[in-house]
Amino acid sequence: MITIVYDDIYKYHAPKKYHVENPSRIDKALSAINQLEVKFEKPVKVDDPQIVHSEDYIKLVEKHSKLEENLDADTYTNKYTYESALYAMGGALKAFETNGFALVRPPGHHAGVNGRALGAPTLGFCIFNSVAYPIKRYKLKRVAIIDFDVHYGNGTQEIFYDDPDILHIDLHQDPRTIYPGTGFADMIGGKDAEGTKINLLIPPLGSDDLYEELIPIIQAILDDFKPVVVAYSAGFDSYVGDGLASVNATEYTFYNFGRISNKFTRKYAVLEGGYDKGLVKGLKAFLEGFANLKIEYKKNKSSDAVKSRFMNYLSEEKNILRNYWSI
Ligand SMILES: [Zn+2]
Repeated sequence: MITIVYDDIYKYHAPKKYHVENPSRIDKALSAINQLEVKFEKPVKVDDPQIVHSEDYIKLVEKHSKLEENLDADTYTNKYTYESALYAMGGALKAFETNGFALVRPPGHHAGVNGRALGAPTLGFCIFNSVAYPIKRYKLKRVAIIDFDVHYGNGTQEIFYDDPDILHIDLHQDPRTIYPGTGFADMIGGKDAEGTKINLLIPPLGSDDLYEELIPIIQAILDDFKPVVVAYSAGFDSYVGDGLASVNATEYTFYNFGRISNKFTRKYAVLEGGYDKGLVKGLKAFLEGFANLKIEYKKNKSSDAVKSRFMNYLSEEKNILRNYWSI
């Protein structure tokens, strides 16, 4: 039985004209979730977003939301945005408390302490960083955050950059080819936290076979780090044909990501991106893995040229990781 944290408040944050990040994403996700055995829980509304974000940024969101003004070229608001984002943080909190999945909008992993993070041009549809909230609220130590959204979780990485107690493993499409343009292997964490921030790159057209190469590396790092909690920034926009990226992951990959958490007693997952098929097929496979169901999915393979580019990235990444982890 999988706990899904959800409330219709997550549909109220909506664009005035077409935007890819819109309430229909929730319906797509629910069409997948309803094929599984689940139990729904209601989120809470938090009243202390300042444990994650600066007061100035929180005020900026509140003001823009009231006026229904865009925060930037990618990121809209309406009068429900501020409240929805507080409930999204509360959704993550409830997911932590129930070992569940937070089916929330607006997304959050690009939102850093002051909004745009690590030189990103925009907030990339994100408002408040929900996956960070339970960690700050309960002052959790030894949390491993696995972010498999196709974009770099720059906001999350910035929030925890100097914190050695939070391991952040971020898998994303080569940032030379996609927003936000940063997130290379040399971002390893600040002083005293070196090695706890890990960026693993997938070249465009990379598929399940490349993600599969990374799974044992992630497992070895987790074995070393010994997390008490595994948290996921769960984005499904790397699913083949999902629309915003050019990586070709399928059910096989999302199922494997879900399974990584099964060794650990505390875990939670928070929805980030995913816009079309990924929200249906990728999300279902992830939850099956997350719930430790036994399912066989077929693996999709990358071309030799793409694989060889990936192996070059990986050898550079391993050279850095070997300084910190037994991989
Ligand atoms: Zn994304």
